Amino acid sequence: MTSLKEVIRTCVFCKTKYTQKELLRLKFEDKKLVLYNNYGRSFYICFNCIDKVQTNLTNKEYKKLERTLCKECKNNGSYIIQLKEIIIDVR
Ligand SMILES: [Zn+2]
Repeated sequence: MTSLKEVIRTCVFCKTKYTQKELLRLKFEDKKLVLYNNYGRSFYICFNCIDKVQTNLTNKEYKKLERTLCKECKNNGSYIIQLKEIIIDVR
């Protein structure tokens, strides 16, 4: 049974709903992608998508995900590369 207190969030990549512990919480700071630090606006990426980013992202998917991140940040940047660097730190 799922507790009512469980916080459900949506992955910005696949739009699937997950509980918070199944998601990585991130934010943009000075137009750079960083782990959420309890301040400011954040968004979530699920671990399924993170696995995909690490292993088998097609060119088309890569561009789509990067566009999503650019939209979140309202800026253009190499955010998938930044995301990969963050993932290495997290694991
Ligand atoms: Zn996802």
